[in-house]
Amino acid sequence: MKKFDYVIVGGGLFGGVMAWYARKNGKTCLIVEKRKQLGGNIYCEDIEGIPVHRYGAHIFHTSDKNVWQFVNGLVEFNRYTNCPVANYHGEMYNMPFNMNTFSKMWGISTPEEARAKIEEQRAGIFGQPANLEEQAISLVGTDIYEKLIKGYTEKQWGRACKELPSFIIKRLPVRYTYDNNYFNDRYQGIPIGGYNGITEKLFEGCEVMLETDYLADKKTFDAMGDRIIYTGTIDAYFNYRYGKLEYRSLRFEDDIFDVDNYQGVAVVNHTAREVPYTRTIEHKHFNCTVPYSEIPKTVVTREYSVAWEEGMEPYYPVNDEKNQELYQKYAELGAGEKNVMFGGRLAEYKYYDMDKVIESAMKKAEAEFGSLA
Ligand code: FAD
Ligand code: UDP
Repeated sequence: MKKFDYVIVGGGLFGGVMAWYARKNGKTCLIVEKRKQLGGNIYCEDIEGIPVHRYGAHIFHTSDKNVWQFVNGLVEFNRYTNCPVANYHGEMYNMPFNMNTFSKMWGISTPEEARAKIEEQRAGIFGQPANLEEQAISLVGTDIYEKLIKGYTEKQWGRACKELPSFIIKRLPVRYTYDNNYFNDRYQGIPIGGYNGITEKLFEGCEVMLETDYLADKKTFDAMGDRIIYTGTIDAYFNYRYGKLEYRSLRFEDDIFDVDNYQGVAVVNHTAREVPYTRTIEHKHFNCTVPYSEIPKTVVTREYSVAWEEGMEPYYPVNDEKNQELYQKYAELGAGEKNVMFGGRLAEYKYYDMDKVIESAMKKAEAEFGSLA
């Protein structure tokens, strides 16, 4: 049986960054991936010459210079800036919450007027917001909460805003300027032509087994590696010993339209509860170095949020207390597995963005190999 320095379970970003540094340090790696291709959730599928973000819209943004230099050393990025629009029963509002949103919502024009309006609407919230509903009202008032947050959030997480932690909504900027940039980070963009170029570079020189579930043959794979790097779900690793962690899954439905520009923007959030999907993504707008008019067709994906069941893809960890407590129990078991490194969104049960996954993998790589050089 062939032996490797590392068996890396999962061909996503975490596994990729670890593989990259392992290879740089002269180590051999076997990648075991369940899906038909590498890349994890950043995989792009070419449809009609358009890189389609197969597992949901992915916009790279970071304030970490090391991470930005790292990814730019792998591929070239475009200047894409995410400026999604929310559709509430046909009324279109700029996101994130900023002066354009406030002006459209209330017919006002200055930051002072916007502050006064929000102040008036948040009057019922006292002290520290106890949940997402209170946090949202306290940040942007009741009108925006009702039209742009409540329905979307309840569809996305499958539970009432009162039952969700406040930090989820704190991801979004609230600005008293006319600035529609969804992120505050210093650097932002999307690899020209999509993310697959990153994946190819990260896993260069590794041996790869696709459509292979590590857990189905764990003993064999464990015997093949001196060390294991595991990026799948941590509860599955321990055979759900303490019960199942909850995840949100997604269903994607594509349409190919014979028009060059369907919705005028890459991301539309559908915030009304009655619309069954949360977002529509028009992928060609991500690839903004190619003018949309150069490709006669367009691919639009509707994104539906669903409760995760075994056999589905677990996309989002559910960040409530019950699940965090359960995760802690699994993390303690994980700490006992001396030969296994657990990392990434699923194994750490964390709502990580791509830059945070890379940052975390870089730290672990440094500890593992002594340096990043
Ligand atoms: P993954 O990409 O999930 O990779 C894990 C891999 O392990 C998967 O390929 C899986 O098939 C494989 N695997 C699991 N179990 C096994 C097993 N038993 N055997 C073999 N293989 C296994 N981040 C941003 O920065 N910007 C964004 O705009 C953004 N948008 C997002 C939109 C959506 C819909 C989602 C779900 C995430 C988004 N993210 C975004 C987050 C981003 O996708 C993650 O931070 C990153 O891709 C996680 O990388 P990972 O390696 O931890 O996990
Ligand atoms: N959100 C909302 N309305 C929107 C967009 C986002 O209420 O139009 C809320 C929702 O609760 C969501 C959270 O803000 O879960 C974070 O949004 P983000 O776009 O960061 O979510 P992700 O990128 O993880 O899908």
